[in-house]
Amino acid sequence: MGKIVKDVLHAVGKIRGGVHVQHHKNTAECELVRVPSPQKVIIPMQMHIGAPCVPVVNVGDTVSVGQCIGDTTAFVSAPIHASISGTVTAIGNIKLANGNISSAVTIESDGEMRQFEGIEPPHIETKEDLIEAVHRSGLVGLGGAGFPTHVKLRFPDGKIDTLIVNAAECEPYITVDYRECIENSWDILSGIKILKEIFNIPNVVIAVEKNKPKAIEILSKIAAQEEHGKDEIKVMKLDAVYPQGAEKVMIYSATGRKVPPGKLPSDVGCVVMNVASVAFIARYIKTGKPLVSRSLTVDGSAVSEPANVRVPIGMNVGEVIDFCGGFKVPPYKIITGGPMMGLAVINTDIPVMKQNNAILAFSQKDGMKKETDCIACGRCAAACPLSLRPGVITTIAKTGDADRLKSVGADVCMECGSCAFSCPAGRPLVQNMRLAKTIIREAAKK
Ligand code: SF4
Ligand code: SF4
Repeated sequence: MGKIVKDVLHAVGKIRGGVHVQHHKNTAECELVRVPSPQKVIIPMQMHIGAPCVPVVNVGDTVSVGQCIGDTTAFVSAPIHASISGTVTAIGNIKLANGNISSAVTIESDGEMRQFEGIEPPHIETKEDLIEAVHRSGLVGLGGAGFPTHVKLRFPDGKIDTLIVNAAECEPYITVDYRECIENSWDILSGIKILKEIFNIPNVVIAVEKNKPKAIEILSKIAAQEEHGKDEIKVMKLDAVYPQGAEKVMIYSATGRKVPPGKLPSDVGCVVMNVASVAFIARYIKTGKPLVSRSLTVDGSAVSEPANVRVPIGMNVGEVIDFCGGFKVPPYKIITGGPMMGLAVINTDIPVMKQNNAILAFSQKDGMKKETDCIACGRCAAACPLSLRPGVITTIAKTGDADRLKSVGADVCMECGSCAFSCPAGRPLVQNMRLAKTIIREAAKK
């Protein structure tokens, strides 16, 4: 691949545990296709970690694309915008994929996709201007976590020396970040330059798993062409081990620094941003158009025509699957997100949300393993990148003892799913870890 790729860095730290999953990147060469505007969207007011938004429109209002329809004064939150133009026909509660109930705004399309007149590029001179612009854009982490990006950017001056752009995309099947690297590499560079300059961050590492050579080559070329940041923006090739893209794992791989339990990446001088989020910031600064659509990989053995699609937020998941030819066999398991960290859903009558990056549907032959008794093999502990003992934590969770759960570190679990993937007994270890974390949280409230 020539000289450019010789400039690629190799990982500094080596991931502990982790698992070698089959990548199934079947859609890697599928260009992003824009799905035609649907007749109706249902936009939840809770599409991020933090406080839900409150609708700021009423039934009967006419709205246009990019108009704010939900907001709150709570600090950890992100405003929500109309993804199609039309009329608000309902405001009421819906059940989300995670089982939570959220208020939601229904918009019936007028077929025009009219842009909101108030949209204009934000004026950015200072760090505060950029943080406020990112807040108004409604951006949340597009890698799947949904943490409001403006909150992540509120680190103290001079605290960050390294921006890590996360392009690992280590979850099987999902290829939307890969497509972002291939199709929008200049937006990525432009977003990096904005963040680097405004926050005065000396080093940037674009971290990509080594099983994506085309992305590494393209990103290396654009980084090398950057006139003044030539030595400061580097592409790093990481081992293709799951969960390489997890924030703490990535920081260790890229810098060799360990984020202690209870601490933040900024405490070790790092900020990690998903590659699609960085590209979105560049486009937002150029256009002022907020987050109203989402790239999704639609794949799995039950899907007729796997694809990468760009869809309005709030579009019905079933309609997205129909656009991809529908199901070729009855789906046995449907997941929003990847097979390791995604959420299994019982039907497709749910809206696409900001933090979704995939819709996967599998036939029965690819369904879940049958659960049997623990054989105390220790594979779950060996696979855990955080050195937790999920089998032991499961046993303690059954007793409800929050203090003991905390003492064995259950609260730091990042729900990556490596333990469950390794378990020969098919035990639902991630659900058990979530239960353990809930027990600790509930005890803390008393
Ligand atoms: S215990 Fe948590 S962090 Fe460790 S492998 Fe399991 S899900 Fe991942
Ligand atoms: S991997 Fe499964 S069977 Fe083995 S110790 Fe852990 S929970 Fe038990």
